[in-house]
Amino acid sequence: MKVIAAIDEMTRFSQKLRCDGRTIAFVPTMGFLHEGHLALMTEGKNKADHLVVSIFVNPAQFGPSEDLSTYPRALDQDLEKCRDIGATAVFTPSADDMYPNGHETYVVLEKLPFHLCGLSRPVFFKGVATVVTKLFNIVRPHAALFGEKDFQQLAVIRRLVEDLCFDIEIVGVPIVREPDGLAMSSRNKYLTPKQRPHALLLHRSLTAAQKMVATGESDAGKIVALAREVLTSCADIRLDYVSICDPASLDEIAVVEGAALMAIAVWLGKTRLIDNQMLVPVP
Ligand code: AMP
Repeated sequence: MKVIAAIDEMTRFSQKLRCDGRTIAFVPTMGFLHEGHLALMTEGKNKADHLVVSIFVNPAQFGPSEDLSTYPRALDQDLEKCRDIGATAVFTPSADDMYPNGHETYVVLEKLPFHLCGLSRPVFFKGVATVVTKLFNIVRPHAALFGEKDFQQLAVIRRLVEDLCFDIEIVGVPIVREPDGLAMSSRNKYLTPKQRPHALLLHRSLTAAQKMVATGESDAGKIVALAREVLTSCADIRLDYVSICDPASLDEIAVVEGAALMAIAVWLGKTRLIDNQMLVPVP
């Protein structure tokens, strides 16, 4: 497995694979890899001849008061996991190379960021769209895999690939959860033993909402109210949003009759947690 830090070397490496007629699947990550990342990689290996993983904690997607400096890092263990899974290459660029002095071009979407996480994290999707565009141009994959856990991010990537005419297949991978239901996340490491059980309330509130829908409730306001009640049963949880929205536009919906996404973001102490689930009405 090649570990490549230099941008031009990564591009040459991919270009060579392409010239040899090989296909490339790409999994962009911020590292501190867990089973969720590994599911993307496994799917990537099924999709193409070669798997390229990037590990880059992207400063452009963190706001000034967010956790860039404390974001968990474990490069050696991450490389071991990539090797075990059979990645062909891991791209580990530096922030200085990705954003050298004079860098001033960003990719900004007009509508999708003004929903859900984008409302409380105003620079987040500008940073994500920019870094993913740059990574696509460097790695030149045929397919790229993203987790449905970050549902809005996946929607943003799908939009930008279509709008900017990237010839890349975007594959969404279902959320990987701990056995007790907590969605896996690198940020789960921040949770104290006391907070860890409270984090289960995200999944529990989604499950309660789905049960309500399955028994015939279609009033989104009532379903959101129930989920908020489940979440705020813990005094340490501070809600960012609980939303039922159209999975394509992310616009809020009032009546659950067709496809509807329920998405949640909360603060548990200093840790921001997100989760989501499609709500399936009774046929
Ligand atoms: P991150 O390193 O957190 O930026 O995540 C890198 C990729 O892994 C993104 O596409 C995430 O959506 C995906 N991912 C993170 N956690 C999970 C999970 N629990 N299940 C599925 N995909 C995930």
